[in-house]
Amino acid sequence: MSITVQRAAHKLLASLPSALRIGRQTATRDRHSVPVTAPRTWTFTDRDSGETLTFTCMAGCTDDHREIRDGVAVADDVWCLKSLGELTLPINENGAPEELSVLRASMNVDPFDRRIAQRLPHIDLEVMDGAFIESLDPDGFATVINTLQGRLDEMRAMHADLVATRAAYIKQAQR
Ligand SMILES: [Zn+2]
Repeated sequence: MSITVQRAAHKLLASLPSALRIGRQTATRDRHSVPVTAPRTWTFTDRDSGETLTFTCMAGCTDDHREIRDGVAVADDVWCLKSLGELTLPINENGAPEELSVLRASMNVDPFDRRIAQRLPHIDLEVMDGAFIESLDPDGFATVINTLQGRLDEMRAMHADLVATRAAYIKQAQR
């Protein structure tokens, strides 16, 4: 299973209604709330290597790290995250419009990843349901934002054009 698919499943779990989840971090998952506690430090035994490992959450991490508290943690599956809330649009991918996730950004840290860059806070952007741009550093994320902003500016101009063209078209049809 790819990291992305694992993450999607993990996020699905995190998006369950709060009543279905357990843990003291539950209340901090709301997108507008700010965790009031200092970053937590965790120590666990990696189930794969038997090693005792320690890491400290990134500031604002909303993961409850339940797998560590349950004593079944595998180092590769441990990561910190904070995400923007769900944003969906009715997209027709398979013959009929359905609400699909767009532009869901998640900030992650993988404290035990073999790629050092993954151990620093970075962005994984789910462009559309299940399709990701991964491992964006601040410059990379800015590049994506600027690209999207450029397209949004073009769409704003196209909107004005649509209003004018539509009015002219209706007028011409009424002649
Ligand atoms: Zn964490």
